[in-house]
Amino acid sequence: SVAMRQDILDLIAGLPEEIRKILEAVRDTAEEEGCSVYLVGGFVRDLLLFVPTQDLDFVVEGSGGQFATALMKRMPDGKLTQHIQFGTAQIIFPDGSHLDVASTRWEYYSFPGALPQVEESCLRDDLFRRDFTINSMAICLNAEHYGELVDYYGGKRDLQQRKIRFLHNISFIDDPTRMLRAIRFSERYQFDLDKETREALYTAIESGVLSKLSVERFTEEILLIFKEINYLGMGRALISSGLFKAWFGKEYDWNFDFEEQEDCASWSLNTRWLMALSKMDSIAICKLLERVCLNKSLRDDTMTFVRMREALKEPLTLSELDRLVNKAPKGVVMVLARDGRFSKLIEEALEASQRINMSLDGKALLEMGIKEGPGIGEILDRVRMAWLEGRICTAEEEKGIVRQWVNTLRR
Ligand code: ATP
Repeated sequence: SVAMRQDILDLIAGLPEEIRKILEAVRDTAEEEGCSVYLVGGFVRDLLLFVPTQDLDFVVEGSGGQFATALMKRMPDGKLTQHIQFGTAQIIFPDGSHLDVASTRWEYYSFPGALPQVEESCLRDDLFRRDFTINSMAICLNAEHYGELVDYYGGKRDLQQRKIRFLHNISFIDDPTRMLRAIRFSERYQFDLDKETREALYTAIESGVLSKLSVERFTEEILLIFKEINYLGMGRALISSGLFKAWFGKEYDWNFDFEEQEDCASWSLNTRWLMALSKMDSIAICKLLERVCLNKSLRDDTMTFVRMREALKEPLTLSELDRLVNKAPKGVVMVLARDGRFSKLIEEALEASQRINMSLDGKALLEMGIKEGPGIGEILDRVRMAWLEGRICTAEEEKGIVRQWVNTLRR
């Protein structure tokens, strides 16, 4: 409607200038190329929800590659990458932001969970292949229709009624990652799953559709969830829906319920992940790792967490404790410190390390006449221990103790 178009023009007018400039460049390129172009997907959804977002997705009726190449003339600092196989192109800007251009196409799946195959089709089909009605709206950017909403599947109604609704009832079978996306969007916006969608989700989980999903794609979706502000709510929904059980094969004691929910917003992804695992025993964690494909940093932190937790169960000398705690990544230590069994030990190690105020280093030892070689590292370790144990408290005492060792060695 005319009123709706004016509303959208107002929303666009309120966007940051860089984004408005891009939309205008897209409009002018469409004019030049004589094709239709639309803003689609999450950006449209979030624009109508008044939540500003970054990622711009465009659909061109015609060749997306040709359009993106033409658009590049108006984006001198952008870098163009084309994915011919998928009929898409991406322009990346120096600040890391990017825009995606797709051509109208029909993706079909040769088997559930496979990567999509691409064929040419029209905008309506492109929108129909999307996951939920709220993600299936488009805004026309051609000059004479600039700001008109294209909403074939009731996306605006569902936004108003706060509903996550699929477009057709084999949606979750076509692409099981949509089950995780349904949970993610529903918890992010506090929308309900529409009745049929919810029932289809449960049916799909029970029918074992997840087994068609690759570990890589599952992990990608899970990590998107862990990056969300409300990942705890999403985690609880993954458990209560039975999705986690269907994927991991047994019940794991996930930790998505803890008191200090306010600080978890500032936690890194790795810390959030370790916190979620923190109630499981080490064997369970190792088993669970077979069902996800973590990047090196997450995998390393998880293994460090498991090893360190096992080591802390054994009696340790102060120097062993120091080596464990003060060399481990901060997130790992923080999660372990929240475990009642280890909090005292870790506090002890951290407190001891605060006493350390080393003024000597390898160079200073050389200047004191100590020979180059492994002995230097050993002396530095012993100095560190002396600080830890409180045997020295000043730079003077530190120098003194080293001289004493050197003299004994010389004798
Ligand atoms: P976010 O705010 O999380 O980035 P988004 O909607 O922008 O949300 P993207 O993953 O960037 O999410 O996807 C962009 C659009 O592509 C979606 O809005 C949706 O229309 C479509 N889409 C993404 N993943 C799927 C999928 N698995 N099945 C169908 N359509 C999808």
